[in-house]
Amino acid sequence: MIQVKNLNVDYFGNPALEQVDIDIPLGYSIGIIGPNGAGKSTFIKSLLGIIKKRSGTITVGNSDIALCQKDIAYVPQKSDVDLTFPITVRDTVLTGTYPKLKLFRRPGKKEKELVERCMEMVDISDLAHKQISNLSGGQLQRVFIARALAQQANIFFLDEPFVGIDLVSEKIIVNLLKKLREEGKTILVVHHDLHEVEEYFDKVIILNRKLIAFGDISTTFSSQNIQSAYGSSLGNVQIKGLGGLV
Ligand code: ADP
Ligand code: MG
Repeated sequence: MIQVKNLNVDYFGNPALEQVDIDIPLGYSIGIIGPNGAGKSTFIKSLLGIIKKRSGTITVGNSDIALCQKDIAYVPQKSDVDLTFPITVRDTVLTGTYPKLKLFRRPGKKEKELVERCMEMVDISDLAHKQISNLSGGQLQRVFIARALAQQANIFFLDEPFVGIDLVSEKIIVNLLKKLREEGKTILVVHHDLHEVEEYFDKVIILNRKLIAFGDISTTFSSQNIQSAYGSSLGNVQIKGLGGLV
């Protein structure tokens, strides 16, 4: 279980997350939803230890989450990645093996073979020599997924992985996430589109600076909770699983 107690984060005095208390059980696929600026990325970055200035405690099992980082693979939001950095697809995926390398060791044959397998899993082997700056949105996202796979982690955090990608890439990623989930991995996905929530996830975290709700899709992904998080900003839209107008 990932146990978050009284998490508070602010940026220069402006609160981004307030009093977030949540126990996230391991082994599920979980969507994180909420309007723009709700603190979804901040929440994930807090769990990853990227945000140091926070209060509260975050533990996995009985350990501080800071001690478990090797076991958490992270696919950042596209806007957080420096795409001008000169690096090939293969070398990008290889960096996924670094967290689990022993001190002062370079990736060897084992890691290189793993990289080839991870590229195959998301169908990017033919792009191996390309610079990441020359890829389409969907290809790039698959590279970052392959990199996460190469980390051989048990927990995966993905921040808006389906934004700006083609349908084929989305399908490949969705199927892969399903497979990981079947293998017992824990998957947390910041997701901006409410339409697929019911189809993609077991559980949902609804955030808007505060935790609005967390639980199974069937009980938690309700019009009332969506209203609480989004207010009237959604307008009258029909969302699958909500059974009516929001
Ligand atoms: P979301 O991912 O839900 O869109 P974020 O976690 O990115 O939301 O941001 C939450 C709030 O914190 C927003 O108001 C955003 O403008 C602000 N914020 C995020 N990152 C920073 C930062 N590095 N510096 C200052 N403010 C930030
Ligand atoms: Mg975000």
